[in-house]
Amino acid sequence: MFNVETIRKDFPILSRKVNGKPLVYFDNAATSQTPQQVIDAIVDYYSNYNANIHRGVHTLSQEATDKYEQARQKIQAHFNAKHAHEIIFTSGTTHGINLVANGFSSLLTKDDEIIVSALEHHSNIVPWQMLCERTGASLKVIPMNQDGELVISEFDNLLSNKTKLVFVNHISNALGTINPIEYIIKQAHLVGAAVLIDGAQSTPHIKPDVQALDVDFYVASAHKMCGPTGQGMLYGKEAWLKKLPPYQGGGEMIAEVTFEKTTYADLPHKFEAGTPNICGGIAFGAAVDYMNAIGFDAIAAYEHELLEYATKQLLTIEGLTIYGTSKHKTSVISFNLDGIHPYDVGTILDKLGIAVRTGHHCAQPIMNFYSIPGTVRASFAFYNTKAEIDALVTGVKKAKMMLS
Ligand SMILES: *Cc1c(COP(=O)(O)O)cnc(C)c1O
Repeated sequence: MFNVETIRKDFPILSRKVNGKPLVYFDNAATSQTPQQVIDAIVDYYSNYNANIHRGVHTLSQEATDKYEQARQKIQAHFNAKHAHEIIFTSGTTHGINLVANGFSSLLTKDDEIIVSALEHHSNIVPWQMLCERTGASLKVIPMNQDGELVISEFDNLLSNKTKLVFVNHISNALGTINPIEYIIKQAHLVGAAVLIDGAQSTPHIKPDVQALDVDFYVASAHKMCGPTGQGMLYGKEAWLKKLPPYQGGGEMIAEVTFEKTTYADLPHKFEAGTPNICGGIAFGAAVDYMNAIGFDAIAAYEHELLEYATKQLLTIEGLTIYGTSKHKTSVISFNLDGIHPYDVGTILDKLGIAVRTGHHCAQPIMNFYSIPGTVRASFAFYNTKAEIDALVTGVKKAKMMLS
């Protein structure tokens, strides 16, 4: 049974105070908090078997290698990838996207087209713009509507046999909209385009099945799903990963090196040059174990309850506008108070111990669409409570009174 009070005991940080008030942490879409089970995995690594992997004959190195590769298998099972070597450990979503964008440099020409969506995070816009500059290919954008949903009929119009790549986030970090990626993947494949899905915001809430989705690439960050920062994963279909050239050169990614020619290592090592974040990979595995033990169905159901409750309570405040009103969304609420800058609201909330995000959320095109400088964003995780939402609503009312 899902019991939020029991779950909260796993997170030491949730019992601290901020500005003399109990912490209310509603910035989960930027980074999630870390349960003791993951902290223990990190401490265990550095206390007991810290060593470099894949090269040592000694015991510590073998233990570290085993644990690191076991973590890869956990991630493989979690995402239902066909092979463990289709999981590339990265430093995060941004790294995974850049790895793929770089790999496509040699595969695109000036007549090719890349489609992205109006709902993207900057880390899913800039690497494609750079790829277009390198190759001469052009970037097309699926537009959005007032509810913060993609206009899918426009996507159908943009698709053609010139389309080589489609990049969409599974869930928008700024608005919480869940995008219809099943449809997008199916349609893109009809014209022979590859699809990369940015799962940074979906993986904290749902358990994607990359084989059922038939997606070509899927990327995520550990730190948004109870894991450590500086760690993430790229799933790629084996055939694509074999086709793409390596991203970085260095140790661990080679089979044989001479000054005339170097041959590359097999997957996944071809994409993992240098000493990786060994502890991070192992802790990522521990985070996935932790979340699966709670269960993603229970997590999604509880977070939906929080979303409905918070939406209803916040809308009782006069002059408050919520941006992102799709029926298909996760527990993210972006809002503003009439005539009040989001930064000022965030500052007052912080004084009350409430952590929210303010600003453009690395998604300036969305802010431009609504003609606003930014929003206040409250994003909920499965360890948040309705009492914390009540504290937020009281805090927003107070901010409104002080600032208007
Ligand atoms: C956070 C986020 C990213 C970037 O993740 P990093 O961990 O900073 O690399 C990319 N896309 C979305 C949708 C995000 O929410």
